[in-house]
Amino acid sequence: MNTPIESVKNYVLLGPPGSGKSTQATKLKEKLHLAHVDVGSELRRLAESETELGKRIHEVINVKKELVSDGLIGCVVEHVLKGIKSDTGVLVDGAPRRISQVDEVEQALALHERKIAKVIFLDLSLEEAVKRISIRFLCLKCKKPFIKQEVMSLICDQCGGEIGQRQDDTPDGVAKRYEVFMAETRPVIEYFEEQRMLLRIDARMLPDEIFEILMKKLA
Ligand code: AMP
Repeated sequence: MNTPIESVKNYVLLGPPGSGKSTQATKLKEKLHLAHVDVGSELRRLAESETELGKRIHEVINVKKELVSDGLIGCVVEHVLKGIKSDTGVLVDGAPRRISQVDEVEQALALHERKIAKVIFLDLSLEEAVKRISIRFLCLKCKKPFIKQEVMSLICDQCGGEIGQRQDDTPDGVAKRYEVFMAETRPVIEYFEEQRMLLRIDARMLPDEIFEILMKKLA
């Protein structure tokens, strides 16, 4: 195994659906010049392909609303890391989400001489998560996020694509994903807390407030 480069900081971002991971990821990437390893988006992209693998992933993430198998996560992280320069820190967004994925992710990072510096956890209640998701829209083409109040037409002002909601963003879908988060990902949070690597952030605040606190905690 290669020795991690200490000066390059790599972070993991975790949180239940609706906790504002994408918003904070965008801000973190810009401020700290990180490359984004967005596991959920990679999986949703694969789920749109007409391949056997794509259909299987679609069934798990959009129909059953469960987590995909662990082996795939290591491969996705490894695949994305291959395209990132070694002197650039990364933000792994959405993995590990099961305790059995901790090794997978750490090994994928270690193959690229990286290790996790901190795990950022955006903490939000189920009630708040359902409220947030019901107003969450996005451009189905370029993925630009919108909130309901901003959607004046169903055409994206950035790329002209159609605006809609994620297939798994129904109230039932959120409740199911939240339940999965509590059952499967809470042990991961507890593990990193024991390792003193966890930064727990109250995600009920406004995005800019959350980011300010996050930056103070990272300093
Ligand atoms: P997200 O965009 O992070 O909400 O992820 C969308 C969906 O992809 C999740 O609801 C899961 O079905 C799947 N997924 C994302 N990350 C993981 C992971 N680390 N392990 C297993 N499944 C995942």
